[in-house]
Amino acid sequence: MQERKRETSAAASRYAGYNARSSSRPQGYAPPPPPRGGSGKRDKETMRGVLVALLIILIFVLMIVGVIWLCGGFGGGDGEGGSGSGSAVVTPADGGVKVHFIDVGQADCILIECDDGAIMIDAGENEDSQKIAAYLNERGIEHLDYVIGSHAHADHMGGMDDVILNYEVDELIVPTKASDSKFYKDVLDAAASKNVPVRAASVGETLTFPSGKLEVVDDGSETANDMNNNSYILRFTYGETTFLFTGDAESQYEREALANGADVDVDVLKVGHHGSRTSTCDEFIAATTPEYAVIQVGRNNRYGHPSAETVSRLERAGAEVFRTDELGDIVVTTDGRRISVAYDSGK
Ligand SMILES: [Zn+2]
Repeated sequence: MQERKRETSAAASRYAGYNARSSSRPQGYAPPPPPRGGSGKRDKETMRGVLVALLIILIFVLMIVGVIWLCGGFGGGDGEGGSGSGSAVVTPADGGVKVHFIDVGQADCILIECDDGAIMIDAGENEDSQKIAAYLNERGIEHLDYVIGSHAHADHMGGMDDVILNYEVDELIVPTKASDSKFYKDVLDAAASKNVPVRAASVGETLTFPSGKLEVVDDGSETANDMNNNSYILRFTYGETTFLFTGDAESQYEREALANGADVDVDVLKVGHHGSRTSTCDEFIAATTPEYAVIQVGRNNRYGHPSAETVSRLERAGAEVFRTDELGDIVVTTDGRRISVAYDSGK
């Protein structure tokens, strides 16, 4: 946005320059026939005439470019700035947005739902397909603008093949590192059989979505030696409210993302790696400053997730912690300004 403004004023000053120079002569000015033998002067006059004509053409072209640009004809004309613009341009729709952290046990499944679209980030384990289908059907969701695999682990992409097979999916975003496992092949096969376009997202990219925007903050650690640190870090903005989804990112990668200048300051944090001790370091909490922290984690899981240490790190920083193992499905609702959290207590 700011860059665009700078470009506008630069164009305007160029424009003013052309005007000032061309205004020294009336438009349509034709040089008088040169006197005999005065070829140096004649050349000079001809050059000046050519220059004036060129300037007039340039002004005309700039005016056309300006009009097209103002009408948003160059794409991206919706006014959405980059993450650094600091202005919330996305206008909330009447219905607001719900971010569902679906309780799929020791796995992740997140549904971003608004009146006019839906995105799914991760789709639980293979055996979670029925639960996810029931959840989508209950909400009358048949179409997903994007289905995104945060990273190629079965507790994030295991149930994704069934989502692709049973719902209308516009695009499948896969991690930058693929897996040889069967569940991953099943996901790709499902996409191929439904002609769903498949691609990896790039850092800095904004996925267009009717209500809000989803930015790819990072696409994996440069030194990732496991899939967890290849998770996408995604930031969702709706009105003035922001969410961060980090897959199973661990602290080493969190620090790298911060060092790369990631803007991760948000209202709601999907806590990395099911609340593992090795994720959600103090520096990352200090940068994200979440008001609400959601942990997707299974009851009595064998990993001891979430770690009491991680939970207390978040609480000490002032975050209110919500866990699917204790609360079931957790739904964060926002109208673009206020945020409320609801859950299925006792599930
Ligand atoms: Zn996981």
